[in-house]
Parts: sequence; structure tokens; C-alpha cells
Amino acid sequence: MKDRRPLVVGNWKMHLDGAGAERLAGEIRDGLPPGASVDVGVCPPFPYLCRVSPVLKGSAVALGAQDGHWEQQGPFTGWVSMAMLVDVGCSSVIIGHSERRQFGRETDDEIGRKVRAGLDQGLGVILCVGETGPERDAGVTEAIVARQLSGALEGLASRGIRGLVVAYEPVWAIGTGKTATPALAQEAHQFIRQWILGRLGSDVAQQVRILYGGSVKPDNMRALAEMPDIDGALVGGASLQASGFLDIVRQAAAGKG
Ligand code: PEP
Repeated sequence: MKDRRPLVVGNWKMHLDGAGAERLAGEIRDGLPPGASVDVGVCPPFPYLCRVSPVLKGSAVALGAQDGHWEQQGPFTGWVSMAMLVDVGCSSVIIGHSERRQFGRETDDEIGRKVRAGLDQGLGVILCVGETGPERDAGVTEAIVARQLSGALEGLASRGIRGLVVAYEPVWAIGTGKTATPALAQEAHQFIRQWILGRLGSDVAQQVRILYGGSVKPDNMRALAEMPDIDGALVGGASLQASGFLDIVRQAAAGKG
């Protein structure tokens, strides 16, 4: 739909050091095409949020975090709350990334609590869903994605979901160099939008942005963005170089142009 503004978000994962994070943020801020018709964000590691925040302040690049806890405060050693993320200047948070589901053993229930906590704090929540390679081969992609959506979004109808973004990230495409074809990704995105339509209504379904993630590069972004239900990208590896990331931003805008 024409009035969904494309969104491109860089997930810096556990990369860079403080100086490198500041430099990369500054290069992205300064290299953004003026008046670009695309929203842009970056998600540095926790320790660098406070360093990157002033670099991006007042710019068109939004600051996001890679995770957040569902409680506001308390005895949760090593965790960071959504309120703390807001306090250091974040406007969005990634929840349910496959690396956290896999290595952090996060459950759908925990992810749902985090989604609600993020939205309650007024953060834009980027909820990641997606199937593994064996799940796709077994033909259960839609069942897996539906289970993840249901775990994360059940009970959300009565809450403000204005800040919700979904990222479809097939696990077999993350960091592997294998990108889903535009047609395959579109099929999954359409399924997600239909699921949201059924559970949360047509206004939400039309308004929610669904990003694709999985080995996005400047040379595959445009064809993906041309698909009607692909509203941008969550970018890992290719977000660590300003020039390539900015190229992806331009290609996302061109695909929707
Ligand atoms: C990600 O981890 O969210 C991601 C999409 O990574 P990459 O672009 O490196 O595949």
C-alpha cells in the first residue's frame, strides 16, 4: 500500500567498538539522502547506545536497541529495561531475533511480554519471526510463523500497537549470503499481513510495516522492495559499512518509488 513509508534498520549485533560505532552512526547520519522517503534506524550494542545517541540526536536516523526486558526495574542481573532504553534516547527495539530465540532460548511467551513492555513504553517494536531451513523443507513455514505471531501478539488488540513492525527473517537466510527470492519473501509477508488482518483488524494490517531480513545487500534490496507487502529491511552484516547500508536505503526507496 502506497502510504506505508519504507523502513530500513541496521542491526549491528555484537560488532564494532565505541569509536567505530560513533563513526558509523555519523557516516550514516551525514550520508542520508536529503528528503529521503524512507525511515532509517540503527541498533548498536547496549554499551554504545549512550555514545551513539548524541551523534544521532536531531537527525533523521533513529536509535534502536537489540533487546529489552519486560520488567521496568528489579533484580534482573545483566538485563536492560525498556524504560532504560527510552531514557538513553532509543525509539525502537528489536524483539525475538532468531539469535536470541536460538542462543538465548527465548520462548514465545517471553517474547510476547517484551513486545507488550516495549509498546507500553512507546517504543517502536520490531518483532522478528521466521522459520529455520529444516522447517521450510518440512513445509511448516506458515505454522511456525503463525505460532510466533500468536505468541508475541496475542492479547495485544486492546493495547496501542501503533509502533509495531514485523520483520520476516528466515533463519536460513541470516548471515548466510542466501537471500529469499522476492516471490518467496512476498508469499511469507502476505501470509503475515493476512494473519494480522484476521487477529488485529484491517487498519492494523494495512498500517503495519513488514520488513524482510536475511542477507540483504544493495543488489537485492530493490527487487525485494518492489514486492507489495515488503516495506523495507532489517539488515545485519551489510549495515556495518555506511556506504553499503546507505545504498540499501536508496534501493529501498527506489523499489517503492
Ligand atoms: C539479522 O540478523 O537481522 C540479519 C538480517 O542479518 P544479515 O543481514 O547479516 O543476514
